[in-house]
Amino acid sequence: MVDIGPGNRYGLSFQHNAVCRMTRTVIIGNGVAGISCARRLRQLDVEESIAVISSESEYFFSRTALMYVYLGHLRWQDLEPYERKSWHQLGIERVLARVTQIDFRARNLQLDTGQTMGYDRLILATGSIPNRFGWPGEDLQGVCGFYSKQDLEYIEGLSPGIRRAVIVGGGLIGIELAEMFHSRNIPVTLLVREPEYWNSVLPVEEARMISAHLRKKGIDLRLGMQLREMEGDVDGRVCAVLTTEGERIECNFTGLTAGVRPNIDWLIGGPLETDRGILVDPFLQTNLPGVFAIGDCAQLRNPVEGRKPIEAVWYSGRKMGECLAINLAGRKAPYDPGIWFNSAKFFDIEYQVYGSVLPNPAPGTDSIFWQHPAGDRSIRIVYDSTSGSITGINLLGLRFRHEVCDKWLREGAQIEYVLSNIRLAFFDPEFFPDFAPPLLDAYLTKTGKQLRLHAAGKLAEVLRFLKS
Ligand SMILES: Cc1cc2nc3c(=O)[nH]c(=O)nc-3n(C[C@H](O)[C@H](O)[C@H](O)COP(=O)(O)OP(=O)(O)OC[C@H]3O[C@@H](n4cnc5c(N)ncnc54)[C@H](O)[C@@H]3O)c2cc1C
Repeated sequence: MVDIGPGNRYGLSFQHNAVCRMTRTVIIGNGVAGISCARRLRQLDVEESIAVISSESEYFFSRTALMYVYLGHLRWQDLEPYERKSWHQLGIERVLARVTQIDFRARNLQLDTGQTMGYDRLILATGSIPNRFGWPGEDLQGVCGFYSKQDLEYIEGLSPGIRRAVIVGGGLIGIELAEMFHSRNIPVTLLVREPEYWNSVLPVEEARMISAHLRKKGIDLRLGMQLREMEGDVDGRVCAVLTTEGERIECNFTGLTAGVRPNIDWLIGGPLETDRGILVDPFLQTNLPGVFAIGDCAQLRNPVEGRKPIEAVWYSGRKMGECLAINLAGRKAPYDPGIWFNSAKFFDIEYQVYGSVLPNPAPGTDSIFWQHPAGDRSIRIVYDSTSGSITGINLLGLRFRHEVCDKWLREGAQIEYVLSNIRLAFFDPEFFPDFAPPLLDAYLTKTGKQLRLHAAGKLAEVLRFLKS
């Protein structure tokens, strides 16, 4: 549907562009990357027609909060961060359709509705799709990933009849799915290939903490175990999962959450250069003139040192969208991913990571690790063993102030300075015990050096520090 009309300051509607030649920017994908780009273009007052096409949903929604609709904490409309009328006011058209083909030479899109659509500039922001590895039975009913609005609706519809769910893959999405079923008292088996939960990303101490937490929650966690195939019943519905270790686990739902990959299959083999994702330069430009790619589907040809060419996370999508808008508005600004940040929740345990924290320490680095005796909170600060500059912070069960961590990491603050001033980073200190003394004790135990605590962490001190 194309609903732009009179009453917005961007003039004539998209269909009327043949009459009034304004640059037409078309964005495929209304996720965080595409929408951040569209909205930032408007903030920059770029006079052009903007249309956003999505086959998933009419309005932008917060994908990271999908689970909360299932949990009953939010309604669907709560996932939409912008008022519906704002799209019209901003002159951003919404088109609910799937793009089935792109004629890059004629600058024309074919939609599954039978319509065609021309463009001057095309932005590909098509996101990810859940990985499938050709497992036998992966197309049975009751087998799906958890990525889209449609996945959520499918899972919701099946839920009353699920007696056991098997979830394959111990990442961030798998654990969300486990929490969702757990909230409805549906028994869950979680198959994880690694020796501990998410040990491909988390250092082993943190990975063990989360494995223990999952078991405490009643999740049947099977470590070091992989999916071989899914067995179907006479109606073509999944009835069991077989593992490579020879186990057969009866279930009537299987969640495939073994990672995601760029949603670009339909673009492969054409003139657009692709690898695992759509290849882009530092200005997010593809090999084709007037065609750009952002978000989960984009692969940087030359990522900055220490960063991955594809970073399928919310914050990177938003940054890419905003960066592209600045470039389209006429300023040359290469994409700068900033300090790596990610956050999630493992049932009740919050997770934050800043900078580089690897599962196995990188050569030449060391870390200070403190864990609460209850096993539900921990702090790890990674630093360069020669220079003493901190390079990463990993938190479980508590939150630090983003701006403070970002500044320490950007400026390469010294580990002893950071530890002595750690209270500057505490978020909501009034709700948590003071973790500074035990953290300094961890440093004393490791190095034999005693440190003094400086900052008390008052807001005025924090603001002074951020300005310094
Ligand atoms: C359950 C879940 C939890 C997550 N939690 C976190 C988290 O805690 N922290 C974090 O950083 N990240 C998280 N992520 C990842 C994060 O949501 C993604 O990195 C981000 O949403 C990607 O944004 P995007 O704009 O690149 O693409 P998407 O949000 O995937 O949007 C792409 C859109 O394009 C549409 N599209 C694709 N092809 C076509 C076509 N041919 N025609 C029309 N439309 C098309 C798709 O249907 C989709 O709507 C989570 C993801 C999921 C699924």
